[in-house]
Amino acid sequence: MYTVCRLVTAVLLAATLAACSPAQEPESTPKPEPLTGLVAGLASGLVQVVDLTQPLNAETPIIQLPPPLANTPGFTPHLISNFDADGPGWYWNWMEIGEHVGTHFDAPCHWISGRDLPCVDVLNADEFIGPAVVIDVTAAVSDNADFVATQETIESWEAENGRIPEGAWVILKTGWGARASDGELFFNADDSGMAHYPGFGLESATFLTTQRNILGVGTEAVGTDAAVGAIADPPFPNHFTMHGAGKYGLTQLANVDQLPATGAVIIATPLKIEHGSGSPVRAIALVPAS
Ligand code: MN
Repeated sequence: MYTVCRLVTAVLLAATLAACSPAQEPESTPKPEPLTGLVAGLASGLVQVVDLTQPLNAETPIIQLPPPLANTPGFTPHLISNFDADGPGWYWNWMEIGEHVGTHFDAPCHWISGRDLPCVDVLNADEFIGPAVVIDVTAAVSDNADFVATQETIESWEAENGRIPEGAWVILKTGWGARASDGELFFNADDSGMAHYPGFGLESATFLTTQRNILGVGTEAVGTDAAVGAIADPPFPNHFTMHGAGKYGLTQLANVDQLPATGAVIIATPLKIEHGSGSPVRAIALVPAS
């Protein structure tokens, strides 16, 4: 009797569960996956990848600070083995490099104004990807190598292209990347040794850090500040302002001339160097085919 009761109970329970289960969902179109369009675009060529990175070699130009300030070493490769007695089946190197050599990322902790703010290792990875805003000042730079971006530079770009989106990388397009393989042209020093190259300054940095919410700024030159920033107050005012506000820098970018004013996405991922003030990056941009 006990067994029969248990069986009846089980059948009733099953029937109850079946009655309570939700009605069969009607057939619906599958929910679009957010990355399906990206993968299809990469395969079809509708999304192109632009390499924003300069090559790293012994000639890669590095910033030159005047004495008594210390300078960074550049890039030096050291061979470990090359299919020889030291490694018959493999080729590999180790390298000597500063954090701020070649195409690289500046973290907030790089600057005294941001010394208590994050270094590269503790930044969230979603901070490395953002829409690209590309401000073309090539014409102004061809007249004036000491061009410094101002609030007006940003506002006149916005008048044509719309407001800078949240989380953007703001890139100054100057044509300077064409000089990157020649240190003399890249620094463009005068007889006194003073370098002349374009970049951001106090006004643009103040506007971008207080009136807009960006990831950071990028340039084609050796630093995010224009060369004249070295003798400004505070020195290197874009660094001082950006990093003090927790924002980032990208420098020595390549192929900026291949970026549209809007519509591209930049991915720039620094190495996860513990307490690293910056890091070389392989910066790329996803660009819609024109
Ligand atoms: Mn740097």
